[in-house]
Amino acid sequence: MDARWPVALIGAGPGDPELITRKGARLLQAADIVFHDALIDPGVLDLARPGARLVAVGKRGGHASTAQLAIHEQLIRAWRAGLRVARLKGGDPFIFGRGGEECMALRAEGIPYELVPGVTSGSAAATYAGVPLTYRAMSRSVLFITGHRARGADPVDWQAVSRAADTLVVYMGVESLPILCAGLLAAGRSPSTPALAVEWATISQREIAAPLADLAATCDRAHLKSPAILVIGDVVALRDTLALAPMRAERGACRAAS
Ligand code: SAH
Repeated sequence: MDARWPVALIGAGPGDPELITRKGARLLQAADIVFHDALIDPGVLDLARPGARLVAVGKRGGHASTAQLAIHEQLIRAWRAGLRVARLKGGDPFIFGRGGEECMALRAEGIPYELVPGVTSGSAAATYAGVPLTYRAMSRSVLFITGHRARGADPVDWQAVSRAADTLVVYMGVESLPILCAGLLAAGRSPSTPALAVEWATISQREIAAPLADLAATCDRAHLKSPAILVIGDVVALRDTLALAPMRAERGACRAAS
């Protein structure tokens, strides 16, 4: 036991257990107790040492703020008890993950912490789908945005969102998908803009592609469920070419694009 071991806030990556960083895996293996999000793949949790306590603290919807305070309390209590504490968060801890709030809470108590970045699901979903988020002359900027706000009280300035970047990557956008698409179309994005929804990226990755004007209806018919990432922009069209698995002709293992 070493009370000076900082609380390790680790980005677990998007799901595929091979996408956690080596540093993240090393700190995870050293932990006595691991507080993890609900979305963390069991394959990643398997990296914890046998005998480590695994505590699911994730919240999917529901009363986020109360649950968040409870997480802070659990982290603080475990560290004070002298345990090596790991906080394992999906993707990157500082992208829509409330990692910042958890650090603030630790800091307020004078508890040291260490931060380990992770591969965020927005970029992993696109890359696994064969969509380069930037591409010369086609996309020079990317916006990571949450779909949550579309359903919130404050009106979203869709013009500003649409103009902010060439490629838009939306987290938590499944429920607000119709509002989101309507907002972007009203703001002047072309109805034919290529768009893609990626469900359970890097795990059982399911991809649903449609022009922006049809995306909401197509996803509805396909019963798209959370967790999913939406990618909107011309670069999505490159998927048709780049989603092909690398040619390994010598083994006859050339997969066709779906
Ligand atoms: N910190 C995380 C994001 C947490 S917010 C990250 O960097 O990836 C939760 C949202 O992330 C989900 O609603 C979904 O939009 C997205 N997400 C997380 N994991 C995902 C996955 N494997 N596939 C698709 N979307 C995912």
